[in-house]
Amino acid sequence: MTVGRLYIVPTPIGNLEDMTFRAVRVLREVERILAEDTRHTHILCAHYDIVTPMTSFNDHNAAQRLPGILHALQQGARMALVSDAGTPGIRDPGLPLIRAVVLAAIPLEVLPGASAVVTALSGSGFSLDRFVFEGFLPRKGRLRADRLAQIAHEERTVVLFESPLRVVATLVDLQQAGCGQRPALVARELTKLFETWHRGSVSELADWFQIHPPRGEMVLVIQGCLEETASPEDSAAKLAQLLADGQGMRAATQQMAKQTGLSRSVLYKMALAKKNQPTDEDDSGVDP
Ligand code: SAM
Repeated sequence: MTVGRLYIVPTPIGNLEDMTFRAVRVLREVERILAEDTRHTHILCAHYDIVTPMTSFNDHNAAQRLPGILHALQQGARMALVSDAGTPGIRDPGLPLIRAVVLAAIPLEVLPGASAVVTALSGSGFSLDRFVFEGFLPRKGRLRADRLAQIAHEERTVVLFESPLRVVATLVDLQQAGCGQRPALVARELTKLFETWHRGSVSELADWFQIHPPRGEMVLVIQGCLEETASPEDSAAKLAQLLADGQGMRAATQQMAKQTGLSRSVLYKMALAKKNQPTDEDDSGVDP
């Protein structure tokens, strides 16, 4: 008996051009598309002339649909899982099916593609060596307070989903939790007509959005609590100073790499270049 295959297929988070050739081909070739909301996915399929039969699969019907889908996959069916936008499973339905397929050792093929998380992070300018995705924060109570306190001490870049109705409350709560001065980004309507990137400290963004209530979908990115936003030149100058003050190369580059997100070898090269630069005195035109 041939076992089938589940394809996880990301779809655009706004701009329909962000479908990959492979995603279109897979959606055309599979026997069935499992969609979070079939009405939504029909729009995408109409755009790409995809006529594959579709079944809804979401949090409301997962328990009921799962056994039938698993059975069909085990009998050889090839199906594609899609959500309304972005990557299935990233705060979208799909996890119970993905988990069941993994446990049943049914072949799984994962296509890379659009996600609001990665899009916002990659344009943030914050360190991406380490980051943490917090999804949507709990709305109230102890759980929310605990999560805010964790973010206040988080060394990694933090990325959150937020609704336009709650973003001001979240920014104000973050401010009160001690993150007011932290550089942050609100990436709004990514890949869409009214895409905007609002950058500033958490407090500045809170003030801005209180006066200009936002609309649309948004991702909030906050710099880690130890990282410094400095230009590469400033960082190199600071490193050169640490070295001149007698700190060892290893300790100094480690400290600066942690603060700036730049790699130690890059910092090292920049510090050397800075050291070898002619100073104003060298440039005075007076012969020694
Ligand atoms: N699975 C999706 C992904 O990979 O991007 C995320 C789905 S989650 C239910 C929806 C949330 O993602 C929105 O509330 C918003 O925070 C964020 N989001 C989705 N599309 C977005 C966009 N075009 N611009 C900004 N944020 C977006």
